[in-house]
Formats: sequence, C-alpha cells, structure tokens
Amino acid sequence: MEKKIAVYICTGCGIGDALDIDALSKVASKEFKANICKTDAFLCGKSGIDLIKQDIDGEGVNTVVVAGCSSRVNTDVFNFGPDKIVERVNLREQVIWCHPGEDEDTQMLAEDYLRMSLAKLKNLNLPEPFIGENLSSTVLVVGGGFTGLTAALESARAGYKTVLVEKEAELGGYVGKMYKQVPMKPPFTDLEENSIPALIKAVEDAGVKVYTSAVIAKTAGGPGMFDVTINQNGTDVEERVGSIVLATGAKPYEPEKLGHLGFGQYKNVITQLMFEEMVAAGKMDANKVAFIQCAGSRDQEHLPYCSAACCIESIKQALYVKEKNPEANVYVYYKDIRSNGQYEHFYKKAQQAGVIFIKGDITDISESDGQLTIEADDHTMGTKSVADEFDLVVLANGMVPTAALGETVEEAPAEDEAAAASDEPKVTVAPIIKSNLLNLEYRQGPELPALKYGFPDSHYICFPYETRRTGIYAAGVVRAPMDMLSAAEDATGAALKAIQCIESTLKGEAVHPRSGDMSFPEFNMNRCTQCKRCTEECPFGAINEDEKANPLPNPTRCRRCGTCMGACPERIISFKNYSVPMIGNMVKAIEVPEEADEKPRILIFACENDAIPALDMAGINRLQYNPWVRIIPVRCLGSLNLVWINDAMAKGFDGVLLMGCKHGDDYQCHFMKGSELAEIRLSKISETLNRLGLESERVRATTVNIMDYDKIPAMLDEFAAELEEFGPNPMKDFQ
Ligand code: SF4
Ligand code: SF4
Repeated sequence: MEKKIAVYICTGCGIGDALDIDALSKVASKEFKANICKTDAFLCGKSGIDLIKQDIDGEGVNTVVVAGCSSRVNTDVFNFGPDKIVERVNLREQVIWCHPGEDEDTQMLAEDYLRMSLAKLKNLNLPEPFIGENLSSTVLVVGGGFTGLTAALESARAGYKTVLVEKEAELGGYVGKMYKQVPMKPPFTDLEENSIPALIKAVEDAGVKVYTSAVIAKTAGGPGMFDVTINQNGTDVEERVGSIVLATGAKPYEPEKLGHLGFGQYKNVITQLMFEEMVAAGKMDANKVAFIQCAGSRDQEHLPYCSAACCIESIKQALYVKEKNPEANVYVYYKDIRSNGQYEHFYKKAQQAGVIFIKGDITDISESDGQLTIEADDHTMGTKSVADEFDLVVLANGMVPTAALGETVEEAPAEDEAAAASDEPKVTVAPIIKSNLLNLEYRQGPELPALKYGFPDSHYICFPYETRRTGIYAAGVVRAPMDMLSAAEDATGAALKAIQCIESTLKGEAVHPRSGDMSFPEFNMNRCTQCKRCTEECPFGAINEDEKANPLPNPTRCRRCGTCMGACPERIISFKNYSVPMIGNMVKAIEVPEEADEKPRILIFACENDAIPALDMAGINRLQYNPWVRIIPVRCLGSLNLVWINDAMAKGFDGVLLMGCKHGDDYQCHFMKGSELAEIRLSKISETLNRLGLESERVRATTVNIMDYDKIPAMLDEFAAELEEFGPNPMKDFQ
C-alpha cells in the first residue's frame, strides 16, 4: 500500500515542557517529509483521537505515527482499524521520564527515536493473515481421566465440538479407581463421593464424541488443521481437529524401586493405589496403619521433584481408616506436609480426628509375625522414634508423567560431518521422549519437548498449558504434579486455551504470546541454500522440510518470534511488519556524533517481552539512565541478525548491548531459546570484531527480567564506563 504518513506529537504528560517540539516536528516534516505533522496536548483524549480520525477520514492518512507514551499503554485508544499502520514513538517512558528535560542530549534522544520510527516505516507493511483451508473448530482431548473429562466437558459446554480419546476400555483413569475423593469445595474438610460417574454422564450428555480402547496413531498438520489418526481396537479413524488438550495423566512411581521401604519384601507394605483399591473393595480392616510420604519423591535417587498430590491423598486415606474405626491408630511420616491452599483445613481435620503426624526420615522398616515396625529420626523431637505392630504400611509413591514414559529420542544428527565436528557452541535441545501419546508427524520429533523430568510444558511462569507445539495444551498431572482441585482448574484453563487457539487461527492471528499478530514468516525460496538452520532453530517445530531440505513452513504453528529470521544466513525470511532491512533502517537512521563531539552512542536491542517492560518501568519510576543509549525493541533476541551489529559498528556505535530474557531450564525466555541463541550467535561475531581491530567486549549480551528495572541505570553506566576505557569506535568518523 502507498503510505500516507501523519505524525502526531503529544505534548501532554510533561513532554511539551521537556522537549523542543518544533525541532522534533522538523524531523518529521523536513527530514522525513511526513505528509502531516501535528501536535496535541492530550493525544490519547477525545480531542487528540478526533484529530487523528479527521485526518484518516479527510486526508486519506493510512499510517499514523504517535509520538507520546509507550506502545505498551493505550493500545486500544490508538487502534484505528486493521487497515491502518500505527507506529508508536516512546517519548514518555523512555525519554522524558528517565532523562532530564530541556537538555541537549535528551532532545537528541527524542529526535533519534522519531527518526528510527519513520525509517522503520519504509519496510513495514500491513500483514495479510494466513487463513488455512478446511479449518476445524473441534477440540481433541487425549486422556479420559479426571482432567481429560473435565477439559472435554468444559469445551463442549462452551459450544465446541469435542472428541475424547481414551486408551482404556473405560473412562475414569486413576481417579475412577478411588473409593472417595478429596474435598473439592468449601469447607474443604469432608471426603467427597467419587465424581467420575457424574462426570462421565455429563460428558455424554454434552455430546462429546468418545473413543475408548483407542490411541493416537498419528498427528499431522497444525492448529486449525490437525489431521489425527485414531486407532480404535485396531481400526483407524480420521478426525480433523483445531486444537488438542493432552491430559494423559501420570503413573504411580514404580514401587519395586522402593525396596528400602519394604515394598516387595513385606506383603503388608503397599502403595497408595493398592490401599485405595483395597478400601473400595471393602477389604481394608487394618487398625494400625502408617502412611509414608515422599516414598520416592523429593529423592535424588528416585523422583527429585515433589509429586504434590500425595500428602492430600494420604490425609484422605488416613481419614478412611478413622472413618471406619475412630479408635484406629494412624501415623503419617512426612518431610513436609504440602496441603496447599484450602487443603490446610483438610489437614487440620485429620489432626482433629487423631491422626498422628511425625516429621522425620524413615531409617528402617522390619516385619515380625506379619506386623511391621518403623524406625525413624523424629525431627521435631530430635529423637529416634520406634513404632510397631502396624497392620499396614502405605507408601505415597509419587507420580511420573505419562509423557516421560518411553525412550528419549536422539537429537537429530548434524547435517554433515563438518558441522558435527565443529566446536561452535550449540543450543541446548529439550528432550523428546517417545511416549506414544500423540505421535506427531513433525520434523522435530514425535512428541512434545519436555522440561526436566519429562513434563511437557513451555513457560510455566507466563504461559501454563502451552507446550512448545502450538495448538497443543497440556493439562493436569501430565503437565506438572498437582492435586485434584488444581487439575480441575488446569483442565478448564487448557480447554480455554484450546478454544482461543481455534478462534485465533480462524482469524489468521497468532495465539500467544503475540496474541492478535497477523504476520507470519515469508521465505524467498529462490535464495535458500537448504542449510536447515531455520528448521533446526525454530523452537516451536513450525517448519518441516521436504526431501531436498527445503523449509516447509506451517504458518498456523508459528508463534511469530522471528527466530528463523535471525537464524537464516541468507536473510531470506521476513515478516510484513518485521524484517532484517526494517531494523537495519532503524540502526542507520540514528545520528552518531563525530568523535570530537564526545557523545558516545550505545545501541541496545531489547526484547519486547521483559527488557522493554523493564526499561519502561525504569521510566515509570523516574530512574535516570545514560543518555547515550538508543533502544530498538525486537520480538525476541532469537530474531537478532548479526548484520545489525555489523551495521551498528560500521556506523560508529561505541557498543552494542543485547538485552534478553533469562534462559535455562525454567525457560523464562518467552520464546524458549531466544536469548540463548543470541549469545551463541554473538560468540561468532567476536572474531570478526577482533579482526577489524575492535574489542569484542564492545558487543555483549545481558539478561533482565521486568523486576530488574532498578538495576538498569547501573548496568548501562557500567557498560558506558567500560566503553570509555576502550575509547571511541574508530569507524565513527568514516560513515
Ligand atoms: S517465527 Fe518463530 S515460531 Fe515462527 S517459524 Fe520462525 S522460528 Fe518458528
Ligand atoms: S535458514 Fe534460510 S537458507 Fe537456510 S534453509 Fe532456512 S530459509 Fe533456507
């Protein structure tokens, strides 16, 4: 589209007092020849919005530049419809709130930010949404236990056609075997009837299409168009679905590995599930019972994590014994009782019923005449505790997600021997375990990549349920250890995400974290060298490849992070509204003073997810920071293309800082690997800089989270001081 650009400079919020607005206007109207440039004292108010709308209607303006507050605020106010480009220049949070007013350096900063935005527009176009063919609005739920039934019910009740696949002949899963269940409602003190029969009836009444004795033989496609082959009793059935909830649950940790606690040695040492079945069958007549918590869990030799539900389940089972015989002796040996949230009331109920809780480590279990003796170090009393004549010892043997049951699939081998032998740092690859749950037909592997211990989540802080395969949401104990109340919430949350995915895909929009983004990567295949970097570095398995290694993008799987764009050495991947030339233009638009001016320049590529919010927070808190910095927001540091750093150094920038999210096993990076990839790419540029006679330390990466905003001034001052020691970039005067 031919752009008719109008620039609106807000003079409210102190901007007009701190900056020379006439000089700023000249950048727009004289330097960049914007069609219209106006100011308003309250741009986000009615008068300001009317002013913009009048120009849109009367003058045919289709590209609106708003110079005022951060793009993180007033997004709805400055939305003029999908056919208008809106570009925001952050003069408030990142200029006048963190730099002194009426100051030469602050004015230069503001003018540069306006230049950068106007230069960005040259290569920025309106995205055209990708709408797939034969899109489906059906939700597939895999797993017919408590979580799966709840997710299916929620999605069907919300009006979405729902298909449920369960591998057993009966629905109900683990919870279906329970005698009673933990309290799910206030006052959170009473045992409740097993809800599975009612849940199954509700699912049937809601019209959910149920396949029992069925497994997923193959899952191909992507959001809106997953083609799923369901094998039921040996016969294949095809279903096209829009999104998938994985609720395949967990298995109890193998008790055979708990010989040190007497399992397998003594017949009266049993598991929680065995006890549950014994009670449900009316065969439990023990009068002295011990429950041993963390039997395997929180143990580096077995399950290093807390299984979360077993404390509450043991309390429930202790109450079974007391319910049957209030005089029975019931002991619970524990490390910590983890009765989260409202379950404190349930814990108290058990104490009031006379259940004895002993905080301690089991040192020995022995048996004589069918009765068991337990020795423990009692941490509360600081003594050894010996209790005998137990009829039963019940091990709370924790849980292992079904996604972790199987062989780890080997990382795809490097494409050639040279690459395999190279000592270049490689990005860490999340394990994929062949667990036969979804059998994905993805180039990246057959199941979901997992966090450590095999739980298939992605970013558990910001995006629970969202696995690293777009459109597939994990819920319940396959995602993380949790109790039933949490599993009910999880199922509902995942069903909502599955619905959101369907609705977004129908509109051609990204689901998350760039919700509503209609751009997607486009490949100029004429110049593709089939190097496979895009397919390998895409964190979300969005790109398959053909037999000649040509990338085959799946737009509906894409999260629009731009990692492929940063990875491509040929620079042939771009988005309509985000591209290598676009950011390159921004870098080139910045005015870099000559050496004699003694005004160094530092370029920051800041990730939009945490670094930009942290920089805004610094402004909101009126923290003052170095005026030499120029900040370019990027979708993710994974989209960083090294040519931008080359451009910056060639232009005379004294240093470049990459500000990304933290990375590692807990994946605070919103796109999994962006900041990690940027650091790896950076290691490659150091050599080039050294060859040019530039210190490699002039370019560095750092990680911040939003709450690090108060550290930003010191971080930037420190970097500026180090750059000062190197002296000015010698390329400065050769631009
Ligand atoms: S933008 Fe991100 S999610 Fe999409 S294809 Fe590229 S790397 Fe994959
Ligand atoms: S990274 Fe670029 S050159 Fe390499 S396969 Fe992908 S599109 Fe082709």
